[in-house]
Amino acid sequence: MSKIYLSPPDVGQLEESYALAAIRSGWVAPLGPDVDAFETELAERIGTAYAVATSSGTAALHLALLGVGAGPGQVVVMPTLTFAATANAAVYTGAEPIFVDCDPATGNIDVDLVEQLLELLRAEGRRVAAVLPVDMFGVCADYDRLLPVCARAGVPVVEDAAEALGATRSGRAAGSFGRTGVLSFNGNKIMTTSGGGMLLTDDAELAARARYLATQARQPVTHYEHTEIGYNYRLSNVLAAIGRAQLRRLDGMIRRRRELRDRYAKMFAAVSGVRLLGDSDPGGNCWLTTIVVEPEESGWESVELAAHLAAREIETRPIWKPMHLQPVHAGAEAVLTGAAERLFATGLALPSGSAMSDGQSERVLRAIDEFLGGR
Ligand SMILES: *Cc1c(COP(=O)(O)O)cnc(C)c1O
Repeated sequence: MSKIYLSPPDVGQLEESYALAAIRSGWVAPLGPDVDAFETELAERIGTAYAVATSSGTAALHLALLGVGAGPGQVVVMPTLTFAATANAAVYTGAEPIFVDCDPATGNIDVDLVEQLLELLRAEGRRVAAVLPVDMFGVCADYDRLLPVCARAGVPVVEDAAEALGATRSGRAAGSFGRTGVLSFNGNKIMTTSGGGMLLTDDAELAARARYLATQARQPVTHYEHTEIGYNYRLSNVLAAIGRAQLRRLDGMIRRRRELRDRYAKMFAAVSGVRLLGDSDPGGNCWLTTIVVEPEESGWESVELAAHLAAREIETRPIWKPMHLQPVHAGAEAVLTGAAERLFATGLALPSGSAMSDGQSERVLRAIDEFLGGR
């Protein structure tokens, strides 16, 4: 019995032909025509003026935060419920993260808490480099409310849309909401280049600065001249070619993930104490279908289902362990309600990959059904 993974890469002949063409073109370097075209195509898709391809989403986040001037003596306001990369990128700049709890319905940053925190920070005379919302599991944060709050406080928004390519909210695409936004093309994301990322922005200066810092801060002269410390953060041309093939298939891959999510939704609709995280948002990209299990109502815990599925070679994963609980961030400031800790204890991401066959999907659903029947 082959193992069913949470969100494996969905690549095939189209990606193969694009990668092969890139290799044969001779552009096997962190620049080339596929990088340029990938940037143009992504900017067009998201609706931003500029896109800068990077070696990872984390690198793009680092450049985005540098782009809004984050540095020592400043703080970056971000959700506690996120992947480590969000916080790491802030720390790379020398700024300190402040972790904020989430909306239990979506897992996205709690806008009321952000508003209160920004007022408090202003009263204390603290310097806030950015608010860094995450579009959790492919559902956009509540930008209708968050953007005005940040605008009133005069704080730029940097959007971590690493999980949200293809998602929309109020007719706008994930990645386009902040002064700058970031996508990831890691192997487990909705679309992959094996590893890679993209910085998006309408700000010409920010885009140019990101590009410059990502190429070792090399001055535009023939010899190697440097006046600042830079980074080696550009995307390989071969990987950009894979990304271009994936982008052509993106809508189909999202459709497939939505189909799988609908099957889970149907299965759990009749199960008391179980809901789907972020299910109220029709604009989500369905990256990872995640259930939240309230054991007082259901009579069982998410970890029990996880163990049942693991014994049948089916991978699941808890929701992100909140950053304020991570040993590396012990002592960091945090504004908490308990919502993120609750989601960490009760949430479980189910196999959601677009390459999953109908047979595999049936195997997962049957295993869940068997678990529920045994209760
Ligand atoms: C995946 C992810 C990242 C980092 O992207 P990489 O391409 O893996 O560096 C950042 N933030 C969030 C929320 C992510 O899920």
